[in-house]
Amino acid sequence: MFSGSEARAAFWLRVNNGQNIPVNLDGCWLWTGPKIRRGYGRFNFNNKRVLAHRQSYFWFVGPIEKGKDICHHCDTPSCIRPSHLFCGTRSDNMKDCVKKGRHYLQQNPDLAPSGINHPRYGAKIEPDDIPKILNLRSRGFLHREIAAQFGVQRDTIGKLLRGNTWAPYRAEQRL
Ligand SMILES: [Zn+2]
Repeated sequence: MFSGSEARAAFWLRVNNGQNIPVNLDGCWLWTGPKIRRGYGRFNFNNKRVLAHRQSYFWFVGPIEKGKDICHHCDTPSCIRPSHLFCGTRSDNMKDCVKKGRHYLQQNPDLAPSGINHPRYGAKIEPDDIPKILNLRSRGFLHREIAAQFGVQRDTIGKLLRGNTWAPYRAEQRL
């Protein structure tokens, strides 16, 4: 992380271009500099690069413990507003997002990594996944959104939910 007033000045130039801070309806402060693939801001300074929301947290909230993620209450990856950020473990982050049903990739399944780029490439649905899938479906997620999250074909989720596969588990769920 950077410290010092020069870095700060450079940072704010990439939030507000020297003018008003761009905000959305949720009151997010939006990063206008470069972004990485999933929409997180990237702050480049002195040939080093950090994630903008992590840098903002470091400056305005406090140091980040090793291995911790900085997560967004607002689920807006480009937001750097300190009050919208919180520190958690990676699994806290996922749980929080899934609980709110607003995981970025659930909202934007077309942007989800797919095929060989998917973190679960080659994976199959495991028994442990089934409660999660049923839960997502019961909250209105589409088959394709669920499939994108688990790295499988949409049809796999369709078959599973229709009870063509994993039939014993499916039967229990109906009791
Ligand atoms: Zn925000």
